[in-house]
Amino acid sequence: MSLDNLRNLYQQVILERYKSPRHRGKTDPVDRYQKGHNPSCGDTIELTLHLDEAAERIQDVKFDGEGCAISLASADLMAEALRGRTVAEALEMVQRFQSMMRGEAEFPQEFRKLNVMQGVAQFPVRIKCANLSWHTLKAALEAQEAQLAAFVSNE
Ligand code: ZN
Repeated sequence: MSLDNLRNLYQQVILERYKSPRHRGKTDPVDRYQKGHNPSCGDTIELTLHLDEAAERIQDVKFDGEGCAISLASADLMAEALRGRTVAEALEMVQRFQSMMRGEAEFPQEFRKLNVMQGVAQFPVRIKCANLSWHTLKAALEAQEAQLAAFVSNE
């Protein structure tokens, strides 16, 4: 895709998701809750996850919060991409998204909607906005591991 086409698509998708998010709210039940903040822009995200009984697969993801169009559009696209993924797959996606923001990777066809966020890489001050939801997701999933470890050691 040419740079101009990518830029247009990026602007359209961001504005559209910002105005009409598909995954704003709170999961039912809430199995994981994590708040994330990006002080450089003032974005705040509250992420909730509903996991399966084994806590291995993500059944649903929702976000709430206040922030700029890039941070909220990124959270909405992320929530969509994560539904039905395993925790391990989700952690891989965090890595890939962060690499993409450095211009070093992109997502395969299956997740091509996330690739529109490549447009943000051209605006270095906004990269933290795009990364916020992914960063928050990583904290939510790692908190889970810590809790499981604590549970095991208590037995
Ligand atoms: Zn922002």
